[in-house]
Amino acid sequence: MQGLIISLNHIISLNFPAALGLKRSKLPRRQRVKLRPQLLILILISVGFFCLAASPAQGPAAFPPKSPVPSASSTSTPSTLTITHFNVGTGDATLVLFNFYPKDNPNKTTQSVLIDGGDVQAAQKVVIPGLRKAHVTELKFAIATHYDPEHRDGLQTVITEIPMSMQGVVYDRDRGWPSINDVSSPVKTVENQPLLAGSEIILGGEGDNRVVIKCVAANGATATWRYPRKGKDIDENAQSLAFLITFKKFSYFIGGDLTGGGKSGFRSTPDIESAVAKEVGEVTVLRVNHHGSDTSSNQGFLAALNPSVAVISSGKTPLNDRLFQWPSRKVLDRLTKLPRLTAIYITGQVATLDGLTEEDKKKVKDVQGDITISTTGDGTFQVNSTSFPPK
Ligand SMILES: [Zn+2]
Repeated sequence: MQGLIISLNHIISLNFPAALGLKRSKLPRRQRVKLRPQLLILILISVGFFCLAASPAQGPAAFPPKSPVPSASSTSTPSTLTITHFNVGTGDATLVLFNFYPKDNPNKTTQSVLIDGGDVQAAQKVVIPGLRKAHVTELKFAIATHYDPEHRDGLQTVITEIPMSMQGVVYDRDRGWPSINDVSSPVKTVENQPLLAGSEIILGGEGDNRVVIKCVAANGATATWRYPRKGKDIDENAQSLAFLITFKKFSYFIGGDLTGGGKSGFRSTPDIESAVAKEVGEVTVLRVNHHGSDTSSNQGFLAALNPSVAVISSGKTPLNDRLFQWPSRKVLDRLTKLPRLTAIYITGQVATLDGLTEEDKKKVKDVQGDITISTTGDGTFQVNSTSFPPK
């Protein structure tokens, strides 16, 4: 190093144009020819010294340069879609989580959507602890499928504990949720927007490295059809938001308490499902409408969606045991006869009138806990720890 400093001082004291041979010096020609290589070497050493001195302390550079260390990028670790149905009794709370690697970013990113939040008690006892267990620190979107308390009220409770992200939006079916504007989310003022049939929410990144949440029904209408109201409002369930969620080869339907023409007491419900079925087609997994009530899941709807697995969010509790006997006998009979369907998962305890038949028991699994579906979109998926298609 001492030698380099001496050389540097020497160079600084030289007449540079002469040293570089740009101007004729007074030395004899033969001597000048001998001197030039020496000077050039000296200059190169000194320039090298300048570069070393000017660069930040990063330790010695490696030659030849090492190739970049492979990172956990989209090429090595696939993106994952996880859908969790919390066990909230007769209600709904469904978490959609997408873990992906954005383009040019080796770090895993997670985006979270909560569709309904159960009632207030379920939100406090099940949904908020469940979100924390799943390491959800913020929600990108929160969606109320409709305004029944076992879907919407808990969602409002969740948002007061788990913040909405800075770009986060709370969606509902028609901005008929004035109390949501009073919610003080930990991070920001809650933004509330209505969703229209045909609109899409996108999670993730480029190409097929993304999840599309397409709204296929809202307020009793699809993108191309509307239920004829005949001068009066249709019931709340029939106006549920419904979604087709797709990720590569995986597809999933969820539609709140959407109705399909079945009887509610002495009254027929509006048949929204038949119009929705035309827009959705076949899906991998069906989240059964309205907790397995026979107001919903009509024959044509089930045949068109033709799922390989069904999930029912319902459960017997001391409060509802005598009120609702869900899933209903009719819906179970229709489901078990579907040609492709291999399993029916139920979050809570079965409350079907007269219990399950031997035929039901071949497919029904009353988990009495949360039901989680996960997939990389490669044509296979897992429900809790069971793989589909069966190996
Ligand atoms: Zn409901």
